[in-house]
Amino acid sequence: MANLLLGKTIAEQINQQVSREVAQLRERYNVQPVLCAIQVGDDKESTLYLDFQGKVAQRLNIGYLVKSLPKQTTKQELIALIKQLNDDPKINGIILQLPLPAQLDPNEIRGSLNPAKDVEGVHPENLGNIILKRKGFAPCTACAVMELLKSLNIDLYGKEAVVVGHSEIVGKPLAVMLLNELVTTTVCHIATGKRGVLAEHVKRAEILIVAVGKPNLIKGDWIKPGAIVIDVGINCIEQKIVGDVEFEPAEKKASFITPVPGGVGPVTVALLMQNVTQAAKAQLNLDGE
Ligand code: NAD
Repeated sequence: MANLLLGKTIAEQINQQVSREVAQLRERYNVQPVLCAIQVGDDKESTLYLDFQGKVAQRLNIGYLVKSLPKQTTKQELIALIKQLNDDPKINGIILQLPLPAQLDPNEIRGSLNPAKDVEGVHPENLGNIILKRKGFAPCTACAVMELLKSLNIDLYGKEAVVVGHSEIVGKPLAVMLLNELVTTTVCHIATGKRGVLAEHVKRAEILIVAVGKPNLIKGDWIKPGAIVIDVGINCIEQKIVGDVEFEPAEKKASFITPVPGGVGPVTVALLMQNVTQAAKAQLNLDGE
């Protein structure tokens, strides 16, 4: 039976540190870090995520604003808002909430963020820095997965990892982060599934990370005995939130498994808040403190 890899506990440790740093910024410089989230349209799940961010920010004493734009917003209008926030010295971090309506391509829009305020790590410059192993903001969910792995204190060197999902903000950056740790990394995606060879790859995984958004895509009997399973997926089914992995049978075979909810999600938000605090410090030129 697997041990639960509880993101909540790790998130709490990060949150405590962030909370101390926020207090210091206030005491020493009378500065409060401020995060601004942009939402275009009114996607229900995205609104739930905003509410969660807002609650965590409030607990940590980080300022939190939401700019809501209508569904029909044009690329020019959205970029104009981002530029305004880039230039606003009171805003330290900006997050562009997904999904965006069809007329807006996230990859086109992300390039207009100021990389120093891109606390989600999605600007092309920040994404490129991951490949070059340079410091900088990196996508929070991919970082959260790496934090969860590091919390296990295992030797990652040469381990066999399979990442299912190749999105720009989770699967791809995560694959690069794993490669940076010399993990042997396979990335599976829709075409792997369509060819019918997903199970074959998953069965080899000593470390399995799934970020797809399809409930029960990964069957419990595919899990290699003793594998570490990190389920990034978030799916709402009849008011319940589940991941992409068949939890109960997978739990019987894995050595560690993340619950959904309570796994990757809380760590993602904790790291987002950490980045906002880092951004505020960098904007005060206090990086080293
Ligand atoms: P996405 O929706 O952009 O892409 C989905 C990926 O799954 C693609 O790479 C696609 O090729 C792959 N895929 C689809 N069907 C497949 C199949 N049958 N077999 C194999 N691969 C298949 O992905 P995303 O934005 O990374 O989101 C993935 C999931 O992670 C969603 O459920 C999302 O809600 C969740 N998510 C969670 C967090 C968190 O903090 N916990 C953060 C971001 C996303």
